[in-house]
Amino acid sequence: ASRYDRGGADYLNCPFDKEQYLAFIENLCKGEKVSPHDFEKVVHFEGCMPIEVLAERGEMTLAFGAMKPVGLRDPRTGRDPFAVVQLRQDDRHASLYNLVGFQTKLTYPGQQRIFRTIPGLENVNFARLGSMHRNTFINSPACLTETLQLKQAPDIFFAGQITGVEGYVESAASGFLAGLFAAAYHQGRNFQAPPPTTALGALLNYPVNASPEGFQPMNITYGLFPDLEKRIRKRRERRQALADRALADLESWRTNL
Ligand SMILES: Cc1cc2nc3c(=O)[nH]c(=O)nc-3n(C[C@H](O)[C@H](O)[C@H](O)COP(=O)(O)OP(=O)(O)OC[C@H]3O[C@@H](n4cnc5c(N)ncnc54)[C@H](O)[C@@H]3O)c2cc1C
Repeated sequence: ASRYDRGGADYLNCPFDKEQYLAFIENLCKGEKVSPHDFEKVVHFEGCMPIEVLAERGEMTLAFGAMKPVGLRDPRTGRDPFAVVQLRQDDRHASLYNLVGFQTKLTYPGQQRIFRTIPGLENVNFARLGSMHRNTFINSPACLTETLQLKQAPDIFFAGQITGVEGYVESAASGFLAGLFAAAYHQGRNFQAPPPTTALGALLNYPVNASPEGFQPMNITYGLFPDLEKRIRKRRERRQALADRALADLESWRTNL
């Protein structure tokens, strides 16, 4: 079942009572973790934080995050459980499921031991265990222009995750723009980055204008857009106004391409 019964039935939900949840958090905190290599700086991307790091932040952190139970009524009790682990169907035959939001750097034996304490997963077979991935990115604020060109060599364009954007859509968007810019450069045409009031522009504006010290990748968020001229309190209306402004500004950028 999906949250609030919206969407498909792709999820299986493993409900925890309070005691089970607190024992699970304690296990995560005490679990064996993979040690970083000497050359690795342990800086986690906030959107992909390992669950054991979240558990160490506070015993209720996961209950308000990846394990939040709201809208997932247990049909046996008619109530929301204390916490939930959601399993998302991973293949057409429904033989594989992944644990939603469970990035982890626990060792493989640690994962097998701890994840088998999730209610319902006592006898689970693990097809693939979790591991963290490392992002490699350049220091874009120091070396890129806002049209994704290397300052020292403007005929070299960068795109995607290596520039400090994060995510599928963001990387594709950045690749699309880099392609447009490279084509215009090659043909000797003028070209400009989209205005920062658009999502495409905000996405480029961030890595180029962020502080080079401690620079970290970023997803697109409403926080990257410049403020509206007039303050709008209601979130939905504010976002609509940001979207309307973005579409209008994108259109005029497009017509000047
Ligand atoms: C496990 C995992 C889960 C993720 N989950 C999500 C998610 O749920 N949602 C989301 O939005 N994002 C997610 N991401 C992030 C997303 O995958 C990346 O942000 C995005 O794929 C980056 O796209 P890219 O084209 O910039 O780089 P990549 O997809 O990394 O493509 C770079 C390509 O360049 C190739 N390459 C590297 N070096 C060379 C070379 N020297 N010569 C030739 N080719 C080379 C690589 O083989 C690769 O094919 C996830 C990433 C990982 C690793």
